[in-house]
Amino acid sequence: MSEQDAIALTRALLRFETVNPPGRERDCARHAGALLERWGYRVEYHEYAEARTSVIARAGGSPAKAPLCLTGHLDVVPLGARAWTRDPFAGETQGDRLYGRGASDMKAGVAAMLLASRNISKKISNTPGIVLVLTAAEEGGCIGSYHLAQTQLLGSAGAMIVGEPTANYPYVGHKGSLKFYAGFRGTSAHGSMPELGENAIYKAARAVSRLEAFDFAQPEHPVMGRPTMNVGTFEGGQGVNMVPDAARIGVDIRTLPGMDHQALLAKIGKLLGEETKLDVFSDMPAVWTSPEEEWVQGVFEICRRHLGAQPEPRTAAYNTDAGNLLKVYRGAPTVVLGPGEPQLAHQTDEYCSMERIRQAVALYEEVIRRWCGI
Ligand SMILES: [Zn+2]
Repeated sequence: MSEQDAIALTRALLRFETVNPPGRERDCARHAGALLERWGYRVEYHEYAEARTSVIARAGGSPAKAPLCLTGHLDVVPLGARAWTRDPFAGETQGDRLYGRGASDMKAGVAAMLLASRNISKKISNTPGIVLVLTAAEEGGCIGSYHLAQTQLLGSAGAMIVGEPTANYPYVGHKGSLKFYAGFRGTSAHGSMPELGENAIYKAARAVSRLEAFDFAQPEHPVMGRPTMNVGTFEGGQGVNMVPDAARIGVDIRTLPGMDHQALLAKIGKLLGEETKLDVFSDMPAVWTSPEEEWVQGVFEICRRHLGAQPEPRTAAYNTDAGNLLKVYRGAPTVVLGPGEPQLAHQTDEYCSMERIRQAVALYEEVIRRWCGI
């Protein structure tokens, strides 16, 4: 079967159109699940909404040690406004490049995890085993993993690999994210008589100034640096001849490990005033494992042999499902490691290096073998 090959399997996954929104991961999820079942895995599906399907697959298992989790997402971002020069869903190749929406982010990573799982499938019984978690709806808020973490399906895991694009460089975490809208109310009046109204845009503008000067009072993290805040949207007003009675700003905060999001929101609420309404729509904790941690050192060692250089502690710029999965796999050391090219994620003419996909299969396989002692 051609899908025994990493490139062919990546291409097969690319051909399932899982653009989110709307998502529709079901067919892709069923395809991956059917392969895993054929290889002897115990497969379960979870749909938090129609056709928004995640896969949980297990093999092995031991009372002495929890399994290793490998996780990736099945959805991809929209194609964007610019025209592609390649078919985004055909898996065209040129040289070492395999093109397609999701090639780097992250169907190559999912394919490599699947093949590594197949390669060890005959030796994994009577070992701690692995659990594969393939999620729906990661893009735009990690909704699929949020729902999975509310179920009993995840079970336990003692360590976790997230196959997001890192060009096979092991990252030891990423910042958290806290996104919210702040709403401001005023009183409408005719634009020629502003003294009769209360201008909501002025209130929002004053709030933006305060946020620009916001001090997190947070010491710098040795690898991640400082937390950040960005006001990304500003909306308000219905006509230039009216005093606006409503305005809204959208705020994106990236946090460091250990920062308390609730305390941060309380501080911002106080700064903006009691009448300001904060509407949080994304709340993901930071993910961080010390590079000195024993299992991480083992992953570094495996990567060193493949990359030809000792990895330095680095963290990813983006968010991952790990923030949600760690609510269940509490304290599990976590590494982000995948074959995709991070700078190509979400780009027009996205591609992945085929050599890196093959390399990722070998990396994952070694990490699994080491965890399971095979
Ligand atoms: Zn991704």
